[in-house]
Amino acid sequence: MKDYLEKAYCMNQTVRIFAACTTNIVKEAQNIFNMWPSSISAFGRVLTISAIMSCTYKNGEFLNIKVDGDGPIGKMTVEATDGKVRGFVQNPGVFLQYNNGKINVADAVGAGTIEVVKDLHLRQPFSSSSEIISGEIADDFTYYFAKSEQIPSSVGLSVNLDKESKVVSAGGFLLQVMPGCKQETIETLEKHLNEMKPISKMIEEGYTPEEIINEVTMGDYTLLEKRELKYECNCSKERFKKGLKSIGKDALTEILNEDKHAHITCNFCKKEYEFSEDELKEMIMEL
Ligand SMILES: [Zn+2]
Repeated sequence: MKDYLEKAYCMNQTVRIFAACTTNIVKEAQNIFNMWPSSISAFGRVLTISAIMSCTYKNGEFLNIKVDGDGPIGKMTVEATDGKVRGFVQNPGVFLQYNNGKINVADAVGAGTIEVVKDLHLRQPFSSSSEIISGEIADDFTYYFAKSEQIPSSVGLSVNLDKESKVVSAGGFLLQVMPGCKQETIETLEKHLNEMKPISKMIEEGYTPEEIINEVTMGDYTLLEKRELKYECNCSKERFKKGLKSIGKDALTEILNEDKHAHITCNFCKKEYEFSEDELKEMIMEL
């Protein structure tokens, strides 16, 4: 099954919900970076909420999301646009456990900040940030939406691993209260969110986005839109060539004289690019 997102309105169009299956995205990230349980659990959740957030705006808008905690994982960076995500983490090899054997994500992330930069193709990119309040990611983004965007929201995210620590399934939801929503609707929803089947169970049981929406909204919803989600890196030799040229003639000449070539690995997909002595000379000529 391909990864996808469903958007729906519920409660008389006063609440909107986005639910996503991101199993392939998170599997791909684990493969690229050879990620250990705490790292992939945290990063998979960030990838999932980023993919969802990229579908809350109109097409083509670009998001850069950084979760920068002081735990061993370090900084997690994700870029997302129109359902396509790519990212990387500082330390993919983190595995912390609680005494009961459960994977510890909160301590692996630590305390710090979430920063979201939105390029909505207006004059200036729009940047907002909030504190990491738990390190569990879902709660941190719930807090981010309330604090930075003034939208009362509920976020549920989960990554499910097998006994060999390989990703089996991943997904989540973002529920947002629209202006004009009645207080009693909010109270009913809050009560239900506390009592319903936890998102970790839904993901473990292989719920589709429609089934997640059905569970979270108590069956009261209208599906609006389906969007494909995927892990995609748009790097190319041409892009890295531009990047190399941007460091300037002197720096490039130094690379040419010292190393006779340039070897670049893409942070987002680990693809490797090689620039030969002749290619470097040509780039210096072009400058
Ligand atoms: Zn790449």
